[in-house]
Amino acid sequence: MKIVVIGAVAAGTSAAAKARRNDDFAEITIYEKDQDISYSGCGLPYFIGGEVEEIEELTPRDTSFFKKKYNVDIKTEHEVMEIIPEAKKLLVKEMATGRVFEDHYDKLVIATGASPFIPKMEGITRAHVFFLRNVQNAIAIREFIQIRRPKTAVIAGTGFIGFEMLENLTGLHIDVTLVEVADKITPNLDLDMAIFLENDLLKRGVSILKSNSIQKIDETSVLLSDGQILEADMVIMATGVRPNTALAENIGITLGITGGIKVNERMQTNIEDIYACGDCIETFSVITGKPVYRPLGSTANKTGRIAGDALTGGDLFYKGNLGTGIFKLFDLTIASTGLSEKEAIKEGYDIEISHNIKPDKPVYYHGEEMVIKAIADRKTKRLLGVQIIGTKGVDKRIDIFATLITYKATVDELFHIDLAYAPPFSTTKDPVHYTGMILDNAISHGRKLITADALRNTAAAKQIIDARSEDDYLKKDHVADAIHLSHEELREKIEALDPEKMTVTYCNKGVTGNAAQNILLSRGFKNVYNLSGGHKFYAASKSQKDTK
Ligand SMILES: Cc1cc2nc3c(=O)[nH]c(=O)nc-3n(C[C@H](O)[C@H](O)[C@H](O)COP(=O)(O)OP(=O)(O)OC[C@H]3O[C@@H](n4cnc5c(N)ncnc54)[C@H](O)[C@@H]3O)c2cc1C
Repeated sequence: MKIVVIGAVAAGTSAAAKARRNDDFAEITIYEKDQDISYSGCGLPYFIGGEVEEIEELTPRDTSFFKKKYNVDIKTEHEVMEIIPEAKKLLVKEMATGRVFEDHYDKLVIATGASPFIPKMEGITRAHVFFLRNVQNAIAIREFIQIRRPKTAVIAGTGFIGFEMLENLTGLHIDVTLVEVADKITPNLDLDMAIFLENDLLKRGVSILKSNSIQKIDETSVLLSDGQILEADMVIMATGVRPNTALAENIGITLGITGGIKVNERMQTNIEDIYACGDCIETFSVITGKPVYRPLGSTANKTGRIAGDALTGGDLFYKGNLGTGIFKLFDLTIASTGLSEKEAIKEGYDIEISHNIKPDKPVYYHGEEMVIKAIADRKTKRLLGVQIIGTKGVDKRIDIFATLITYKATVDELFHIDLAYAPPFSTTKDPVHYTGMILDNAISHGRKLITADALRNTAAAKQIIDARSEDDYLKKDHVADAIHLSHEELREKIEALDPEKMTVTYCNKGVTGNAAQNILLSRGFKNVYNLSGGHKFYAASKSQKDTK
């Protein structure tokens, strides 16, 4: 059997390696139009920043490694120009010579990945404008910085690549401005979490311009859509990617509604013996079963392995993804998995939302707080999605949540998971347990929650009780119209409140607010909400516009 793979990064090499493990006699060839193979694209920003010193650290495996270990022939700088499915043939161009030759396949894997989206604008092809996708892009950016010593940079886009480049360029003492076309940063976060992150970044002196886009790039400046001109010795365009589907489209392979190649759970396209995997395909959500486009290394490796297995007669099936993602920004970690609030509402779920601020370890053992926003379905009690921002322990929690969501955990089940505890690692009840407890109390035990956004936006007549100390109320700011009734004095002064009116309690982070809520509920108050994430999240998720 002859297997041909197009593309030799994450998905293509995974497919070839798995095919070889299943079938030691197949002839396997990979064509790759670039010069580099099997590299860690995810490490490229850290090569630019210098944390990864040598590019070879990100490209540990070359063609001879694949030949020796897997008996796979990788032909670099060979572009597949055309697939002829009727004859199971390919036209391949050897880029060094321009020679075009024919090859044939019994099984073909399209692993052509994705390319950066290149917006049309004046100046986009200038030498100081960069897209970061592959090793050569990263080398070019690092060389430019070393030779030209730029002092200012503009980064377009606030996805993970934009932020990783912000961190790395800032580390090289380049003054960076982020420009984001949307009215919020970070596509994976809901608005409240995005504002929380943005406020933190603003305190660190990061310049972010939202609802704005680059219109024109000059030699040392960019013109923005609002008319501002920013100094820019270099420009990084991190405005997303598009799947490379031209080869597939040309032969009638069906694309999905997200634009990626449509495949089944075995990575088969609609043309017999042609498989596709990685960033060029559309996948589907574990939760909704609906198509999604999630161009991530984690998914590319998995779908590559499944393609390699399926075409050699294995029994692996793809089970979908949650779009789980994580990135580091200075000392922060930002992570998300599953549905966002916005997506869950769009899918028609009746949702409960909690914001939970907890340290990753006991404070006496240097624990540091993280904010966990969790979204659950009231009807089935299933956890649907989680977003976390914090300094430590975020990676561990997001992976626990991703596992829980994958196995369809209900919020009451979270409390019962037997997680490892010792002070250097976690708290006796882990932030994961607390998230489940809060959501379970809200959905099943009448401890209703109100989000900071909902409180800011509700026009309903209400009494708001600040249950913190008087000092906090007076000196730390408080919710507009809140009255101060500390948790301790609430029982005695309860006559001052109207039990029929909507009541909101809050403290700093939510625990004492919940205690105050319990006191009111046990005394016949019916409509009592605890402010999710307390005053701390309320204040930190206020947009700058609201603050003014
Ligand atoms: C800066 C950066 C940071 C990232 N960080 C993360 C991260 O932290 N976590 C994460 O999960 N993901 C991350 N990713 C995404 C991850 O790198 C990609 O999802 C992954 O590389 C996709 O692998 P792939 O093999 O599907 O596609 P690609 O990496 O795009 O490789 C496809 C290959 O196919 C070749 N090709 C295309 N057409 C042809 C043709 N006609 N003939 C021959 N060859 C062809 C291309 O040259 C390319 O080399 C990051 C990406 C970048 C750029």
